[in-house]
Amino acid sequence: MNRQHPLVPICRACRARGGELVLDLGEQPATDHFPAATDAAEDPRHPLRLWVCSSCGLAQLPDEVPVPVEPTRVESQALASQAADAVARVAASGLLRAGMRVTEFGSGHAASWLPLLAARELVPITRGEAERAPVDVVVDAFGLTHSPDQASALVERTRRLAPDGVLLLQFQSFPGIIRNRQWNVVRHGHFAYHCTEAMAGMLRVTGLVPVTAWRFDLYGETVLLAARRGGTPDDSVTTLLAEERDAPHPGTLARWAERSANELRTWLERAAAEGRAVLGYGAAARAVVLLNRAGVDRDLLPAVVDGSTRKWGKRIPGTRIPVISPTELTAARPDAVLVFVPELLRELRAAHVALPAQWLVPG
Ligand SMILES: [Zn+2]
Repeated sequence: MNRQHPLVPICRACRARGGELVLDLGEQPATDHFPAATDAAEDPRHPLRLWVCSSCGLAQLPDEVPVPVEPTRVESQALASQAADAVARVAASGLLRAGMRVTEFGSGHAASWLPLLAARELVPITRGEAERAPVDVVVDAFGLTHSPDQASALVERTRRLAPDGVLLLQFQSFPGIIRNRQWNVVRHGHFAYHCTEAMAGMLRVTGLVPVTAWRFDLYGETVLLAARRGGTPDDSVTTLLAEERDAPHPGTLARWAERSANELRTWLERAAAEGRAVLGYGAAARAVVLLNRAGVDRDLLPAVVDGSTRKWGKRIPGTRIPVISPTELTAARPDAVLVFVPELLRELRAAHVALPAQWLVPG
């Protein structure tokens, strides 16, 4: 049962109604709800589209669709070391001091910064406590994208910030998504895809200014902004803004979506014709979107391996492809493994040196 597309989307940040539809991935199943492998029911599908507000530049999902609870994801080494790197770089800039009170808006699937900050003698405070007594540091690593109402989510964070406090906001860069052709990161439940300019505009509304920016190559490109009340953006922010303006038009994502779905399907068909055994690795939302867009099912890809015990015995939504464990991967000895989560490639190769398979990242 699908809800109708709203005739005119309203921006989740600035409430403007004008914008451009840049990507339409059709009707997609809920990317986080993995049915049991034995569940033969048709999965509900909902529109998955990307719209860019012409007033504030925020890329977002224009459609309201139900979002089920996400199964806990195994925290990858890449995410954990990225959080440590981010904390180290912020600390090196002098923004963190022992005794500062800190609260966090986590995403549920990124590493928490709190243990890392506690190790630097900052004092973790619950969000409820921070509401009553605002804190020196508010951290949001990949959390904001999960809020359907972007404007009020940012107000919620700012409200917990002491007058001279600093908000640390980390997000996957939308210009980076375009440059890296990562169309399949667009998914139900991730309502907004931020560029620094749109984020700066949203911050301005809550009275904050991004004063410093850092960049990381996790997920392609991620940005970390430090924002506070007052101050001026430094060179790192102005450079980032200038570079983002050179990113290709978001509409190019539609072309890459078409191309990579076609390439995946063709590649799998050829492998099947040649009698090569292929498995997938990483039952992430990105894989769900890609497999559904490509119309790939169990006949072409017999299973997808995942490290999360909660996904074993389930199937990829919208398909009959079962999710199996890494132990089953070793036993299956496939000729090739398609890694749907590119940042895992290095650690997977290292963990499976004995497996004589070709490791590939699709399109
Ligand atoms: Zn807007």
